[in-house]
Amino acid sequence: VWAWLERRILSTGFECPLDSGTMHLARPGVIDPYTGESFAIWSCDHCGFGQTVPRPDDIGRYYAPDYHGDRHGASGGLANRRRLGFVSKTVGPADGRRLVDIGCGNGSFMEAARQRDWEVAGTELNALDARARGLRVESTIDQLEDFAPVDVATLWHSLEHIPDPPSMIRSVRSNLKPDGVIIIAVPNFASLQSRMTGSNWLHLDVPRHLNHFTKSSITVLLGAERFEIVRSWNLEFEYDIVGWSQSLLTPLTQGRTIFFDVLTHRAERFTRSVRLANLASGIALSAFIAPIVPFTTLAGSAATLIVAAQLRP
Ligand SMILES: [Zn+2]
Repeated sequence: VWAWLERRILSTGFECPLDSGTMHLARPGVIDPYTGESFAIWSCDHCGFGQTVPRPDDIGRYYAPDYHGDRHGASGGLANRRRLGFVSKTVGPADGRRLVDIGCGNGSFMEAARQRDWEVAGTELNALDARARGLRVESTIDQLEDFAPVDVATLWHSLEHIPDPPSMIRSVRSNLKPDGVIIIAVPNFASLQSRMTGSNWLHLDVPRHLNHFTKSSITVLLGAERFEIVRSWNLEFEYDIVGWSQSLLTPLTQGRTIFFDVLTHRAERFTRSVRLANLASGIALSAFIAPIVPFTTLAGSAATLIVAAQLRP
């Protein structure tokens, strides 16, 4: 009853930051697996865009020093090769052209791109790891003025962390060549996995994820700056499988994401037996779920959404 009342009271709504739709309470009681704090996600009844509520003023506090950890675990090299594949399928080989990676994390994608003859630069608030690889990394894209205009801008799972996506897309546009390409990967808020696991969905990752995108809300966001989606994909296999198995395990571990933390080497705070139990359950569930993942991909409803967009002439 309380949940219903809360929903009635809170469902008066506010205007969507992307279009004229109205934001309604969509997912109450979303737990941050690291602090145990509770958040909600409101989403637009028109474009499906979601926002985390409330928005912490001190977001830095929610990024533990090991947050970026080894985000892709053992599959890091695979992820970078696949991402370079998305780039080359869209724009062809590098030929010394310029690529900026926004929210470049530890810089491993930039390094892989540099090896494929891209001239690279990146942005990241916590740039120490990437700079240690000898890469040029600034806090914001506007500090890369002398590197612009670029041929390609990539945002691999960074747009969901950025406080103001419309202004980020505007900055990208003003630093991109007229025939340049922007490539964005985000968790798919409208995916089957997201809808079925509700507030327990692994890739909600509140409050670090301030924004939650669907294909239509990305289309609206990009369209406002004259970008048109030219290609899209919806698979990052490990995100999908681990997304399913962890999201199903989360309710059993009081909102914590121990299986995922073990895979990404961030589970030191749990005892060995807890780690082993979660690893075993996670692997068993993953094996059970793996066969259905290709079907969600074919249905365009996988857990990751990747789009490439160009400016309309
Ligand atoms: Zn909207």
